[in-house]
Amino acid sequence: MSDALAQLRRLGEPFMEELSRAMWMIGAGHSREIDLRSIYARHAAALSDDALAAALDAWRTSTRPSEEHRSARLLLDWQIEGHAARETADLEERELGWEASAVITLPDGRRVPYQRAAIEIANSTDRRERLALDAARGTLVARELAPIRRERFEREREIVAELDVAPSYIEAIEEVSALPLRSLATQCEAFLRDTSDMSRELLAHSLKRELGINPDDAARSDGLALARSAEFDVAFPSSDLERAVRRQIEEMGLDPEANGHIVYDTAEREGKRSRAFCSPVRIPEEVYLVIRPHGGATDWQTLLHEAGHALHFGYIDSRLPFEFRWLGDNSVTEGYAMLFDHRMQDAGWLRRYTGLRGADLSRFLRNVGGSELRMLRRYCAKLLYELDLHGNEVPASQIPARYADRLSEATGFRYSPDDAYADVDPRFYAGRYLQAWQLQAVLASELTERFNEDWWRNPHAGPWLRDSLLAEGQRETAGELAKRVASRDLSFAPLIAAIEQLVES
Ligand SMILES: [Zn+2]
Repeated sequence: MSDALAQLRRLGEPFMEELSRAMWMIGAGHSREIDLRSIYARHAAALSDDALAAALDAWRTSTRPSEEHRSARLLLDWQIEGHAARETADLEERELGWEASAVITLPDGRRVPYQRAAIEIANSTDRRERLALDAARGTLVARELAPIRRERFEREREIVAELDVAPSYIEAIEEVSALPLRSLATQCEAFLRDTSDMSRELLAHSLKRELGINPDDAARSDGLALARSAEFDVAFPSSDLERAVRRQIEEMGLDPEANGHIVYDTAEREGKRSRAFCSPVRIPEEVYLVIRPHGGATDWQTLLHEAGHALHFGYIDSRLPFEFRWLGDNSVTEGYAMLFDHRMQDAGWLRRYTGLRGADLSRFLRNVGGSELRMLRRYCAKLLYELDLHGNEVPASQIPARYADRLSEATGFRYSPDDAYADVDPRFYAGRYLQAWQLQAVLASELTERFNEDWWRNPHAGPWLRDSLLAEGQRETAGELAKRVASRDLSFAPLIAAIEQLVES
């Protein structure tokens, strides 16, 4: 390990800890403000031009493949992301400020805060109201948010292009961030083709049954209403939530707090963000799992998801260098999170830890199968569209229409071109989720082979998961990990099989 990389590690960890602590404090409602600029100023050396140059040099000159090259790649990826974030901080602040203050005005003069729009749309049982809200929201987004986001993405592409690590932005992400975008895109196209008939059939059935809508008329706002279905909420009481998840983790032979490293923050608190998150403030010693329960099945899925992240961070081997604990392929941590949240699709798990039984359980599983397919198809279309957005083949003027076409075609809901820049995950995070989906399927079948169908309550399964996977941090990519523990490639095949089984429940 070169002196330059050792220096990056020394500078990187305290910077990331301070940043993560500040994000946790504001997200959990412990502080009202976040002063990102002074954190960046205090740690200016961690994201200096010298630091970037050192990472670039180590990445270019180290032998491939080697552990040194692996470290250099992770550190370079982090440097590029950090530099781009610093250079576009003004746009990010404008975006956050806009989101916090924007107000939608409806044709009848009513005003709704932008932040409430998605909830209001999902909760509205009056279809005309839903469509009106969403149309007003879309107009505002296209006029005010889209230009900010569009500029941000352009600047990010320019910053990466200037570094000259690969011929294009997409190839740079593939090379440095180890996300195989183009092969994933080929898989997404095949998945969309292979599941198209099944998707159309399931959607027509749900739309008729739940919302009384003809599939030809379905709009994206109807999709929000469909996903909101509260039919099964009584089987998932908030009072049992944390206890049930902790019990399951104990039954699989793990400590829900990972030796005192994880703090569960499930209490109601003014100022706490409504979207759950997991903050590793020191890895592995100090990890916060923050959730603001709203009631129902979604909370259970969310807590399981965040518990997967928290166990990952809390059980990482403290002897690993900074980059393997803090950086790397986030498909891996998302994969562990999904391994846990997919227990909500597991009949045995549901029978043991919830009140669902008999016909209700079957109906719940069929519903879950349908929404799993819709979500997967949406993410496949998102990734394909984001490749259009960041590639050179689709002219900028056609980008919004391309967004609407791809998403409408894949989901069966009519999407508006207004959201072409708002509905984008920076740096192809949709690709990480898709790989995580594939990874959790590989891990679940490996766990089933080793510890039987109810591995989630087998006291030998947890220690195996901890020692062979969680402890390793994100040293390996999701693809490498699937190969090492299961000798398999990541693919959509097991996901299709699982969905087919669910919808036949
Ligand atoms: Zn996650």
